[in-house]
Amino acid sequence: MTRVSKSFGLVVDLATAAAWGFGGYVLASRLLSEQIGGVLGLAIFLSVLALSLDSHLQEVRMERLMAGACPKCRSTVRYEHKHRRWDPARNNWLPASTSWECPKCGFGHGEAWVCPTCPEPD
Ligand SMILES: [Zn+2]
Ligand SMILES: [Zn+2]
Repeated sequence: MTRVSKSFGLVVDLATAAAWGFGGYVLASRLLSEQIGGVLGLAIFLSVLALSLDSHLQEVRMERLMAGACPKCRSTVRYEHKHRRWDPARNNWLPASTSWECPKCGFGHGEAWVCPTCPEPD
């Protein structure tokens, strides 16, 4: 993803949050009162915005990790990946697992991330 599409995504998120908040405001003003509608609309706006900001932050964190940098202190992270693999005993695919660890600040993160060379299950 490029920077342009990312900031565009942020604008879309803002618009979505505003639309939700406004919808909540209109509905609550009609059903209850305008004051309650205002408070409720703002609450919805902020929580939808917080949710989307959180997913953006996670995206940024994953991007840093992919680049081998600690999202907290930006030093080099240790990275361990176990490929998705077939377990003949269980007759099942075992999920891929990836873990990152920063020796400098102690940051640790694990994810069932599938790398480009992981085998595809059939
Ligand atoms: Zn892999
Ligand atoms: Zn660190």
